[in-house]
Amino acid sequence: MIPFLSLKDVTALHGEEIQEAVSKVVAGGWYLQGKENERFEADYARYIGTKHCVGCANGLDALIWIFRAYVELGVLRPGDEVIVPANTYIATILAITENGLTPVLVEPRADTLEIDDSLLEAAVTDRTRALVIVHLYGRNAYTDKIGQLCRKYGLKLIEDNAQAHGCRTADGRRTGSLGDAAGHSFYPGKNLGALGDGGAVTTDDPLLADTIRALANYGSQKKYVFKYTGRNSRLDEIQAAVLDVKLRYLDEDNARRQRIAKYYYEHLSHPLVSLPARLDDAQNVYHLFPILCQRRDELQAYLKDNGVGTLIHYPIPPHQQECYQELAHYSLPITEKLAREELSIPIGPCITEDEAAEVVSLINSFR
Ligand SMILES: *Cc1c(COP(=O)(O)O)cnc(C)c1O
Repeated sequence: MIPFLSLKDVTALHGEEIQEAVSKVVAGGWYLQGKENERFEADYARYIGTKHCVGCANGLDALIWIFRAYVELGVLRPGDEVIVPANTYIATILAITENGLTPVLVEPRADTLEIDDSLLEAAVTDRTRALVIVHLYGRNAYTDKIGQLCRKYGLKLIEDNAQAHGCRTADGRRTGSLGDAAGHSFYPGKNLGALGDGGAVTTDDPLLADTIRALANYGSQKKYVFKYTGRNSRLDEIQAAVLDVKLRYLDEDNARRQRIAKYYYEHLSHPLVSLPARLDDAQNVYHLFPILCQRRDELQAYLKDNGVGTLIHYPIPPHQQECYQELAHYSLPITEKLAREELSIPIGPCITEDEAAEVVSLINSFR
């Protein structure tokens, strides 16, 4: 049995230190808005390379708060258009529509699976105010062309870094520090995962950081004084303590993923299976290892019958979801093809080369 991802094994990898950190918080008697949050926020901001980090309840909230803060600050107004990749997890789009903003979907490149920067300029209208890039699958999605376009049209550049903790650009900057603000998720299965929900926003903008800190705390900057109608969206002290331990091992854990990915790239060979373009390791932290196959569902069933767990990211694109009738008019052939053909095979910090070899030999002998 090779599971898609065993969270039990992932936690056990740094189990003692995690247990110790949790016990310390439990015994300390301070569970919210304390020293653990302070320390993790400082450490994560330093790691990502931004001046500020604000912890919050989850990755969706992190993205929601970025847009909401820009609305509160008068930078964005309801009805403004936000360009976003069509082939993302629905949370990216939810954060936009939650704030009365209009998502404008752009196709990915068929080789990188990341937003196609050659299509961006045509998507800009006089109502476009922001662009979201998603470092999907752990791959760097930023290109110089994206930076240039944002400067040319005065667009806010927002990163969804939920899948790419530790990833870098070609010139060595960390994803999460490239634009005006970035949302991070610490969902347990992510490269930097908590033992429950967690999220954060990173930014160099002190006003944006302060606004988000207030919004995520009922809209309050001062006890019992409410500047905004916020929500309770805090990161708790136990999760912050766990994340601070795991952050120390993030590069090491990502390197394990990269070793498995290298094995897959060097050994997977099947006429019906294709792989996305290979990036240098700095630019891919392999949150997932997507492969493409026209007989995807058969391949998935075959792997399952042989004890290998896989998942599909994602089987129904946002514009074809019931909740987004207003996006149903889009025709997005590359996104739709990915939804039909993508299969994520096991990758993570705990998979061994022997297990990767078994996955490879099974796929290569698929008939
Ligand atoms: C996981 C994820 C999110 C949402 O994170 P949660 O912590 O689950 O709310 C957002 N965007 C992408 C691309 C994700 O993969």
